[in-house]
Formats: sequence, C-alpha cells, structure tokens
Amino acid sequence: MLRILMLLIALLPWPALATLQVFACEPEWAALTRELGGDAVKVFTATTARQDPHHIQARPSLIARMRRADLLVCTGAELEIGWLPLLLRKASNGKVQPGRPGHFLAAEQLPLLERPSHLDRAEGDVHAQGNPHVHTDPRNIARIAKALAARLASIDPDRADHYRQRLRDFTDRWQQAMADWTERAAPLRGRQVVVQHRQWPYLLDWLGMQRVATLEPKPGLPPTPGHLAALKTQLATQPADLILRAAYLDPAPARWLSRQTGIPEVVLPFTVGGSDAAQDLFTLFEDTLTRLLGALQ
Ligand SMILES: [Zn+2]
Repeated sequence: MLRILMLLIALLPWPALATLQVFACEPEWAALTRELGGDAVKVFTATTARQDPHHIQARPSLIARMRRADLLVCTGAELEIGWLPLLLRKASNGKVQPGRPGHFLAAEQLPLLERPSHLDRAEGDVHAQGNPHVHTDPRNIARIAKALAARLASIDPDRADHYRQRLRDFTDRWQQAMADWTERAAPLRGRQVVVQHRQWPYLLDWLGMQRVATLEPKPGLPPTPGHLAALKTQLATQPADLILRAAYLDPAPARWLSRQTGIPEVVLPFTVGGSDAAQDLFTLFEDTLTRLLGALQ
C-alpha cells in the first residue's frame, strides 16, 4: 500500500514553483538578477537610465511593487536614502526589510572607495559610507554576482542548483569579456579626466585613469558659473584628456566646458538602457569602452 502511494506521488506532476518577485532599484541590478535568475525570477525595475537614482519619488506604484516583492536588490551605501526607506516603510513588507534575507545591497558586498574621513553635510551630498556607484567596475559586478546568486539560492532553496548553474555560466562569460575589455582599454591607462558627478571612481580605478576635476562644486550640487569659470582656468594650465558625463545628467555644463577648453566630452550610458547599445551588462561595458576610446581619437 505504502509503495503504491509513493509511486502515485512520484507520478504526480511536479507543482510549478512560484516565480520569485524581485524589486530592483536600478537597471544594472535588474540586469544582473535576470542573468542569475533566468525564468525563475520576475524583475521589476524602479528607475530607468534616464533618471537620477539619488532622487526618485516614492510613488504609489512603487509602493505596490515593493509590497509584492520577495527580494529587493539595490545599491545601498545611501544612494537611495532619499526614497528607499520611505518605500520600505509604506510597503511594510516584512520579507524585504533591512536585515532580512530579502534585502540585498550591492555596496555591502565589497569595500567602498572614497570613504569620508569626517562627515560634514556642508560638503554637499556626501555619501557617508563611501562612494555607492560600485557597478561601473566589472570586477565588482563579478563579486556582487557571486553574493547575489548565493542570496537567491538561500531564499529560494528549491532552485538553488538553478542559480548556481547560472552563476557559473555568467561568470565564465564575464571573465572572458573582462579579459577582452582590459586589453582593448590599454590606451586609456594614465588618462586624466574631468567628471560631472563623482560617480566613476570604480571605473577609473579599473582602467587606471585619474580624475583631475569635478563639474559639481560639491557632490550632488549643480555646477555654478563661477565654479565652471575656475575649472576653465585650471584646465588651461593643467589640461585633461576627457570630460565624462552620465547620460541622465544635464548636458549644458559639460558641453560648455568642452567648447571652452577643447577637451572632448564623452557621454557614457552609466547603466543598462543609458544608450541604445547598452542593452545588458555586457553591452553596457562594451559601449562605455567604445565611447571612451572613440573620444581619444
Ligand atoms: Zn552619487
């Protein structure tokens, strides 16, 4: 009797596992979660590449999405401090609250650059825990992928093998791509750049480039005519190779400085969707390098 019962159970169609609902704060984490989750995850992205992720409105539609989420994947390190805590409070979804397994922050998976030695809010929109824009270095993406795959497996243990397999596959392709990128990027090494917002320290660290000036007078504050004029003077005696701007930022200040100094301006996608070519994490870095190298010629 028992044997027949067990046979019957074995013959029953395996119940389909529910899709994991993921709330990603930024497009890069949505893309990474899709790489690692495949058809086991359904990812909602709270922001687009055309928006400034520091400043988002906690809209009711975002609260509704957060309420349904099994897992939240965000940058952390205070990038979303202006909107994520409010969303979490309003959604009151226990699964994704800070400290719960469903609350995954990319910036917690690695040491951050630009940790301020002292905190002074008068210095502008300083990120107290260090620079949060970690996704601009593909080596960081590899580390975060490993941690995120482990987290997916721990909150969805029935599919742990699925996530492990996809991580292996992603990591193989990513290591290969990184080797190619590093080779292609050789002419960028040692180049000096002006940035609009300090969102590239990880990219510059990876490529061996240096930031020599910032268009924002203080982090998060828009460039002022006085500050731009001072930069023009500075760059006349200490020239730089490129001016970098993320696609979502106001184009006017970088364009003005480029015209005044003759230093080429490069618009970088910054995240997935930030350019027509940057459709996933691979093409994001592909396109970033193409644009940087193209501007040097
Ligand atoms: Zn920032």
